Formats: sequence, C-alpha cells, structure tokens
Amino acid sequence: MSHDTIAAIATAVGEGSIAVIRLSGPDAIARTAAVLRTKADFEAAETHTVHYGHIVDPSTGEKVEEVLVTLMRGPRSFTGEDVVEIGTHGGVIAARNVLQLVLRQEGIRLAEPGEFTKRAFLNGRIDLTQAEAVIDLIRSKSDRAFQVAMKQSEGSLSRRIIELRQRILEVIAHVEVNIDYPEHDVEELTSAFIREHCGEALAGVNLLLKTASEGKILREGIVTAIVGRPNVGKSSLLNALSHSNKAIVTDIPGTTRDVIEEFVTVNGIPLRLLDTAGIRETSDVVERIGVERSRSALEDADLILYVLNRNELLHDDDRELMERLAGRQVVVIFNKTDLPQLLDASEVEKVFSAERIVPMSVLEDEGIDRLENVISDLFFGGRIESNDLTYVTNVRHISLLERARQSLVDAIEATDIGVPIDIIQIDVQQAWELLGEVIGDAAGESLLDQIFSQFCLGK
Ligand code: GDP
Repeated sequence: MSHDTIAAIATAVGEGSIAVIRLSGPDAIARTAAVLRTKADFEAAETHTVHYGHIVDPSTGEKVEEVLVTLMRGPRSFTGEDVVEIGTHGGVIAARNVLQLVLRQEGIRLAEPGEFTKRAFLNGRIDLTQAEAVIDLIRSKSDRAFQVAMKQSEGSLSRRIIELRQRILEVIAHVEVNIDYPEHDVEELTSAFIREHCGEALAGVNLLLKTASEGKILREGIVTAIVGRPNVGKSSLLNALSHSNKAIVTDIPGTTRDVIEEFVTVNGIPLRLLDTAGIRETSDVVERIGVERSRSALEDADLILYVLNRNELLHDDDRELMERLAGRQVVVIFNKTDLPQLLDASEVEKVFSAERIVPMSVLEDEGIDRLENVISDLFFGGRIESNDLTYVTNVRHISLLERARQSLVDAIEATDIGVPIDIIQIDVQQAWELLGEVIGDAAGESLLDQIFSQFCLGK
C-alpha cells in the first residue's frame, strides 16, 4: 500500500456536462471532508455511497462548487485504497478550482499519469496486461478495438499466458528432478517430455503472435488513402464510408503532425483515412506526380482505395498510377455503374486481380457492402468475425513473446542434438521468465514506470 494520497482530474480536458476529480490513498476521505460540506458526516459514511454537497474554501468559507461525491473504501475500489470521486460541473475551470483546493492541504499531491492504475496493479487489483488494456481502452478508436481491450482488461491474455507458463513449469520441474536424482530417470523419457511440453508451449506462443498483426490493425487502424483522377468520386466515396459507418474524428496528440484524423469502421475494422488535407493531396496525385508530399502519403498507406470512373476511357495518368500501385494492397473501385460502361476493364484486370475490383455506384449507394467485405477479407482473411478476441496488441508483449518463442525453439533444438539437460534448462527457464514479464510477474520498477507513464492524468 502507498502511504501518500494522490488526486487528479480524471475526466478528459474539454467541455462536458460533468468533470470528476479522483482521490486515492489513506487520507482521501479526510482530505475531501476538509473541503466538503454535506448534511451527514462524510468521514463516517458507509462505503460505496454518493453524497450531495458543496466544496467550500476553508480559508474564506466561500462555496466554490456544487458537487456529487462518491466514496469507496479500500480494498473494494479501483486502486484497492480509499477512493473518493468528486463530480463537479463540466469544463476546465470548475474541476481545476476544486482540485486546487484539495491539493492545498498537507499530505496530498497531484497524481502522476497512470498512477491510479499503477496503484491498482501494485495492490493486486489487476495484473499488468489488464493495466495495459486500460491504456488501450482509453485509446481505442473502433468498437472492435474496444472489445479486444475490454477482453484483455478482463484478463483473457493473462489466462493464456498462465496456461503456457504452467506447461513450461512442468518441464522445469521434470528436468529438476532429473538433475537432482539422475538415477531415478531415463534420459530418453526426459527428452521426449521436453520436446512434447515445450512444443505445446511453442504452439501456444505462435498462436498469440499470429494475432499480433491483426491486433495492431485493430488498435491503430489501417492507414488508408483514396486515390484517383479528379471527378471519379473520391470525396463521394469518403462521405459514403463516413456516413454509413459513423465516422469518428479523433484527435491524436503526440503524432508528429498533431492533426485530426478521420476514422471510419468497416465491418468493425478501423480505417484511418489520411487526414483530409492528406486526402486532398493524394486526390490530385496524378496531376502532381512527382510532388513529394503526395508520394509519401501514398507510400505510408497500408491500403489504397483506387477509384476509377467506369463511364470513362482509361487515361494515361491511370496507366502511370497503376504501374506505381502494382504490388500494393489495392482495392480498385469501378465507380458510376449507374452510367454506361466505357472503361476497358481487361486492361485494369491485367494489373489487379478480379476479386480486388469492386463495381460501385456511390451515387446510388450500390456496392458498399461488397467493398467492405473485400477490405475485411484482405486484412483478416474473413476471420474477424471470430468471437475469440484475445489479440496481442501491445508492442511490449509482442517482443517478449518473440523472445520466449526463440528460447523454446532453442530448447527443443538442443534436446534434439543431445545437449546436456542442465544446459537446456536455462532456455526453458528463460522462456518461463519472459512470459512472466508479460503479466508483470517479476516486473522491475523501471518497466512499471515506463508502462504507467503512458496513461493520461487521472487514470
Ligand atoms: P472526386 O473529385 O474524385 O473527389 O469526385 P467527387 O466525389 O467530387 O465526384 C465528382 C462527381 O461525380 C460529383 O458530381 C458526384 O456527384 C459524381 N459521382 C460520384 N459518384 C457517382 C456515381 O456513382 N454515379 C454518378 N452518376 N455520379 C457520381
């Protein structure tokens, strides 16, 4: 348990109808009571109760804010400590005034980013993958990503890891016995045991790693550029995608350009459409071929939606563009199917396979479903519908899993060529420790600081 009490504004900065100041620690209730005027005695109140009252400046007696205060005594709270949440009017000023009054007291300080969640972890309320999932929950930009993070915060990844570690622990125990009492064991049998159990653990690690690339997409979105000649229907397509799929405009601070990016979800998959300025830039890609910015926007994209007007003959600009797009993840849209076909499709089909070509009429709302299915097949082979939402989405987890995989491979190979068992044991133990690091078993202090500092203030 920590000995000091922390406080911070827990809601997002900006306009909202309420804001919440959260306090956690041994003095959370007393420090709140010192600035709170309620009918009943707040300090004596039952746990998990809500209180109406006013925040009062103790030095002047002046009412600062009308509030609803929630009291949760440890250990049944988010952090495991005494927690108070003060709900104030929305906006920055009210919450800041209350926070300043609270912080003016002795023995209470402003929380560091992620410190509430860090305490929850240190007090055993959640494990490390769950804590990290809280970061993802805050950041998730699509329903699907949210569900994945939710699942992780409930501990589904941890359970998998614990199972794998159990397998490996059996090997460690078995080998330990063999080393201590070689006369009781047959070397042959131990080798077979290592091979079998490490093999199973390896298969499990591989399965988790396979989800990693999908997880990254779910979390960060598929970077998508819409390209094509002027007037083919790019903006119309963008609008159609946005309207049928509740566009989410997300402000992502910390990206290099600090731009507002537009997210649309397609079959639950977030597409990160290059910011509007970027899209405009790429829309003019043919006219501006050779312009550095449009070139790099194209190069950065994971997915390119290439729009052609089926009502026009193929233009030389298109031939040039097709050459540049060859080999990329491209979905070709033959737009304006409501008009007579003039385009020679066979020339396009020489470069792009037919299943990547979607005839559409954006104007008449035809073909959007097909486009969405082609996109989800492209990135998930249709498997996105699966209910198994244990995705590894975190870079730290991925790197640990990759190292654990290597240790297991080394152990199995060493067994095959007859390396002494106590040497093999080193690799097996390594795999066990690396997997332990994923869930925060034996996590060092610096690792913890690094993880929790990614949180926003008040979490
Ligand atoms: P952009 O320059 O590529 O962004 O093209 P726009 O989206 O601005 O569309 C250019 C014109 O084509 C507009 O007048 C649209 O209404 C029209 N348009 C877009 N999609 C269709 C379609 O499917 N059928 C027809 N007939 N017109 C379309």
